[in-house]
Amino acid sequence: MEIYLDNAATTKISDEVFGAMLPYLKEFYGNASSVYSIGKKSKEAIIEARDLIAKALRCKSKEIFFTSGGSEADNWAIKGSLLKSKHILSTPIEHEAVLQSLEYMKDLGYEIEYLDVNSNGIVEIDSLKSKLRDDTALISVMYANNEIGTIQPIKEIGEFLKDKNTLFHVDAVQALGSIEINLSELNVDMMSFSAHKIHGPKGVGALYIKEGTKINSMINGGSQERNKRAGTENVAGIVGFAKAVEIAQKNVYVRNSKIEKLRDKLLKNLLSLEGVYLNGDLENRLKGNINISMENVDSSILLMKLDMEGIMASIGSACNSGSINPSYVLKAIGRNDELSKNSLRLTLNEENSEEQIDRASAIIIDSINSLR
Ligand SMILES: *Cc1c(COP(=O)(O)O)cnc(C)c1O
Repeated sequence: MEIYLDNAATTKISDEVFGAMLPYLKEFYGNASSVYSIGKKSKEAIIEARDLIAKALRCKSKEIFFTSGGSEADNWAIKGSLLKSKHILSTPIEHEAVLQSLEYMKDLGYEIEYLDVNSNGIVEIDSLKSKLRDDTALISVMYANNEIGTIQPIKEIGEFLKDKNTLFHVDAVQALGSIEINLSELNVDMMSFSAHKIHGPKGVGALYIKEGTKINSMINGGSQERNKRAGTENVAGIVGFAKAVEIAQKNVYVRNSKIEKLRDKLLKNLLSLEGVYLNGDLENRLKGNINISMENVDSSILLMKLDMEGIMASIGSACNSGSINPSYVLKAIGRNDELSKNSLRLTLNEENSEEQIDRASAIIIDSINSLR
């Protein structure tokens, strides 16, 4: 039995999404900029997709800009927005797409400062209050963390920034599908999304850019995406993404309560072992996320053992798997080197069954015991 427990790395495309995409890979292959009928068909599909996403996220259609995924959206928000001054705030637990974009900005002469996160991986609002300056041009805080699943107080941060002159960017790639996102209630200027984390196709996503926010084009060329992002549109991808967003924003509660039951059962079993600790907050956490650190277990060997048994899991973020570096997220929340290195991330979704969870639980426990 194969058991996929790595939904934070990517998800399986859903039948509905796949079905919606197919016509745009086969019959309607026209370029959306062309005048004949299959071109118009593509153009209409993009308009419809943008409208669907805007409706689902409660923003305006013209505030949605399609990208090649979450990484591009993060890069664009940070490198592209027209910043009035040189100070940027973020957190030490952001995704690499944000952290590396900040490094790039640092090389250009920007001053990057990181907010404190507590030992549960939650951003301290007090740290924001003390570090925010009159010349802070941008603050980037993720909605939910990809390694430890912690959910940040985005609404509160937005409220606090309301009368300030600072742009607020949020990476919501992990949040979408697990948290109902209502952009009309969040004082956010830019928000990043990706399709493949919500049962959509890989290689497509979006950046929400609030009306009036000034941003440069990062990909120059044709006039696609209202002159903001050149390149022939990934029509099938965009259509699939829209379908995935529509589904993701529906029934969040029902989906979450199913996932939470499974997660809690698995977590309880794992925490019954000695020297196994949960990383991150239990309350403010994505329902599908388990991240544990283990004493006296080499987690890269554990991963291989699990793989042989058909269990697909990861150590922290997918980008770091295979490497033996301690997780920077776990270090940032105060774990020592050993516990930051020897972690295991299990990310569930609604397709996991109780039978799978029971089996996974037994195999993981056996494997940990045998490695000790
Ligand atoms: C996956 C992920 C990204 C990158 O998205 P891609 O579409 O894979 O480029 C960015 N941020 C977070 C939090 C992610 O989990």
